[in-house]
Amino acid sequence: MKTSFFKLTTLSQSSLQDYVDCAQRFKLRYLDRLSYPAIETEPTLENEKHQQEGEYFHRLVQQHLIGISAEQIAKFTNSANLQRWWENFQNSEDVKRLAELPGRYPEATLSAPLGNYRLLAKYDLIAVENGKVLIYDWKTYRKRPRNEWLSARMQTRVYCALLVKAGAHLNGGQPFEPEQIEMVYWFADFPNEPARFAYTSAQFKRDWDMLVKLSDEVASASSYPLTEDRQKCAYCTYRSYCERGIGAGNTDQAEAEMEAEELFDVNFEQIGEIAF
Ligand code: SF4
Repeated sequence: MKTSFFKLTTLSQSSLQDYVDCAQRFKLRYLDRLSYPAIETEPTLENEKHQQEGEYFHRLVQQHLIGISAEQIAKFTNSANLQRWWENFQNSEDVKRLAELPGRYPEATLSAPLGNYRLLAKYDLIAVENGKVLIYDWKTYRKRPRNEWLSARMQTRVYCALLVKAGAHLNGGQPFEPEQIEMVYWFADFPNEPARFAYTSAQFKRDWDMLVKLSDEVASASSYPLTEDRQKCAYCTYRSYCERGIGAGNTDQAEAEMEAEELFDVNFEQIGEIAF
């Protein structure tokens, strides 16, 4: 029997990632809308600060991409992390040139019907250049994740597939061919090691079929089991609620740590305005 209170109408890469990682986390976060009952990790303050800086960095880059000068932006980099990330951005030819591209769409939102839902994605940047379309995502992770881990994430699969489905208005009314698309994760602390994923028609078919199947599963779900992979609980905000540990995670397992980084990932809805 469903006990959910809220009727879900949209799905996103984050909610789908939660669903595949742990159906219970999906339920608590998106159906019950339970706020964060546990301290996420230790040291708490340091993580919180890193997350806030990550959000602030996203806002600074977005402001730069809509026309605020680099000199002006630099005045707002008021911490060591922000200064380093901004310098790295400015010194990376690959991303620096994006501010000059005519076909750039920072913080673009795309959506398309998916089963009973709308699939929604907010992109850091979509850039159209010489017949190609590049999806850029800024990451302020403290570790550079493995490409295999990134390519399997819902974010990579949702962002690329949804751009095919819903990006025609960025291409003169013609849907983009999957082969035109490349997704680039640019790491503010590893500026010379971006992760680039070219897309293909076969991947698009595989991804969209998977998304349709997953949305059907979400729509018909009647139980939301706790994950059997307890590593996923180490940094989860709901671990005290689930009785999967009260103390904060301090595992050395690389995958669990990357999972944690993603849990602290920037969520656009959380980013406030900065007055320039
Ligand atoms: S603590 Fe573990 S079981 Fe509970 S929601 Fe989080 S990941 Fe799922």
